[in-house]
Order: sequence, then structure tokens, then C-alpha cells
Amino acid sequence: MAAYVCTRYCINKFKDSIRFIPRRYRVKTKWAATRPKFPATELALHNFDTSYSIQLRDLWPSIRVAMLCEQKHGALINSFSSAPNVIIDLEARGCKDFISRPIDCSRNEVHPSSQDSTTSHRDSTVLEPAAFQPSISPDIKCLIFPQGDISRFKPARPDSSGILGYYLLDAASVLPVLALDVQPGHTVLDLCAAPGGKTLALLQTHSVNYLWANDLSGSRTMRLRRTLQSYLTKEFLDENKIHITSTDGRQLGMTEEKSFDRVLVDVPCTTDRHSAMVEENNIFKRSRTKERQKLPLLQTQLLLWFAQRFSDTFHFAPQLSVGELVLPYLCANFGPIYMCKLQRMN
Ligand code: SAM
Repeated sequence: MAAYVCTRYCINKFKDSIRFIPRRYRVKTKWAATRPKFPATELALHNFDTSYSIQLRDLWPSIRVAMLCEQKHGALINSFSSAPNVIIDLEARGCKDFISRPIDCSRNEVHPSSQDSTTSHRDSTVLEPAAFQPSISPDIKCLIFPQGDISRFKPARPDSSGILGYYLLDAASVLPVLALDVQPGHTVLDLCAAPGGKTLALLQTHSVNYLWANDLSGSRTMRLRRTLQSYLTKEFLDENKIHITSTDGRQLGMTEEKSFDRVLVDVPCTTDRHSAMVEENNIFKRSRTKERQKLPLLQTQLLLWFAQRFSDTFHFAPQLSVGELVLPYLCANFGPIYMCKLQRMN
């Protein structure tokens, strides 16, 4: 308040002299009027060029070209639909299920990208024996056109009850669901679920006993509901195995006592393909700069439930890549204690 009074006084006393007008009251009219308006897509690309060329190095130019071209889709087969010949028709067009195809063990040649140090960890995972991989649900089927074939899928046809035969999505979106390794009878929380591609993939396992699908956005939660209504039978929906809410996942982590066998947290992100191509709803718009800058924090808060839940008692180290570290702090003088949960894979 004191600062405010002082500022008003200065303006009145020296109103003819710009020297004393606080910086925040000065307006550069010409600059404001002619300031170039960069499209958000251009800002997005500039941002990607700056950061990804460092992270991905010489891989970035070809990734950039691919990102600016039409994306390939996969057809997630909807086992709740009785539309006839869905898979047969897709296979007749040359599509193959990328999940159930036999693994070619002879293909252990090193992909060009693995020569780059940024991907060396990933490649060592690819070459691990099959015994160390999570079991892959045989019930999820996602058909794709072969490499190099850029054909498009036709819109899915409904069965006699109106249930659609497949859901088009980025085939890579199925991978987190496979990695989740849902087992029969599991309870699952899908914390950021809308518009519902991964929720639908989860349900294709027919293993989920109870699914809580949540999303902060009310309009996107409506889309999620519509997706589920278009892909699940009325009988299945009537079993009340699915609970849909629209709430902040961070709050849910703090208040919900229930525990789940599996939790899928598909955090909000910069949706790079969309940001590079489409102006509408682009997170690189200047008006959304703050929202974009806060994304990493939001992602962390959504992922680190445990730390969130106790953050009013302990001081957790920020930005730790693995585990949690309680740091002593004068007003919360516990620790230091580091913890990290390890899961034996075999
Ligand atoms: N899993 C979805 C799918 O496969 O269709 C896509 C999820 S999208 C990557 C991220 C979602 O997170 C958005 O729908 C957004 O509304 C939601 N979201 C953003 N902030 C959230 C929050 N604090 N709590 C819960 N959901 C949030």
C-alpha cells in the first residue's frame, strides 16, 4: 500500500516529466501498435528448434520433417463391437496388428538412432531378453499400415447397436497401456483420461474390475463420456464398473483414500504435433505462456502423489529424477532421508 501512495504522488508532482513516470505506466504506442504477431505454430517450432536440437542433436532435422507431415494412425480394435469382418477388412487393405505380431529375434541390429548417446539407455532395453519384458495383453489389438504406407483408415463402422468397430489413435498411445500390465481383477485409476483413447485401450483387456476415469476439464470429460458411449455396450456400462469424474487430479491424490492396483497418469503436455501445425487451442500462444511454463510443475504434481500428500509436513527436494528426498528445512526439520521404490522384474 505504501508503495502505491508513493507512486501516485510522483505522477501528480512531476506529470510533465516522463522521467518520473514509473516504468509500468509508460506506453510505447508505436511499438505496441506495430508489434509483429507471430503465429503460435511458429513460436512452437522456434521453441522446438532451440530445445530439441540440443536434446536430440542430429536426429532432430528428420524428426522435425516427420512432425510436420501427416501423422500415421492405428486402429484400436473395439472388442465390444459386433460389427462383422472389421479385422479381416483391415488386413485385406494390408494392415497388421503390431501387438500380436511374432517377435523377430534375429532383428537385434543397432538402429541408426542408437548410435546417439541420447538413446543408448533405450536401446539397451530393446535388446533385453523377452523374459524381462512385461507380459503383453493379447486382448488389445491395434492394426497399422506397414512402414512407408501412408494410407488412411476409413471411418469406423457401427454394429447393429451403434457400437463402433475401431478407434483411431496414435498407435504409440497404446504402449503406456501395455506397459501398465493390467491383470485380471485389477482396479485402475486413469487420472487424466479425456478424450478416452487410453481408457478404451485399458478396457479392451477385459481384465479391469473397476475403472475410475477422471479429467480436470469438464468439456473434455463430456467427450470421454461420449467416447465410452460410442464404444461400449449398454450392458457393460450398466455393470457400473466405470466411475467418471471431472476434478483436479492433484486434489484427488490428496483426498482419495482408495488405492488402486494400477494408475495411469497421462499428464497434460505441449502436444508438439498439434502445436507445430494448428493455431487453434495452441499452447504456444502468447496468452498461454504462463500455462505452458507451469506444465512441468503440473506434470510433477500429478505424478508425485506421495510427496504431494505429505508436502505440508515435509520439505521434498524438487526435480529429483528418481525417488524422493526429504530435506531438512528450518520450519520442517526432518530428514535428510532418501527413498526409492524398486520393483523386481523376475
Ligand atoms: N489419456 C487421454 C487419452 O488417451 O485420450 C489424453 C490425456 S491428455 C494428454 C491430458 C489431459 O489432462 C487433458 O485432457 C487435460 O484436460 C487433463 N488435465 C490437465 N490438468 C489436469 C489436472 N490437474 N487433473 C486432471 N486432469 C488434468
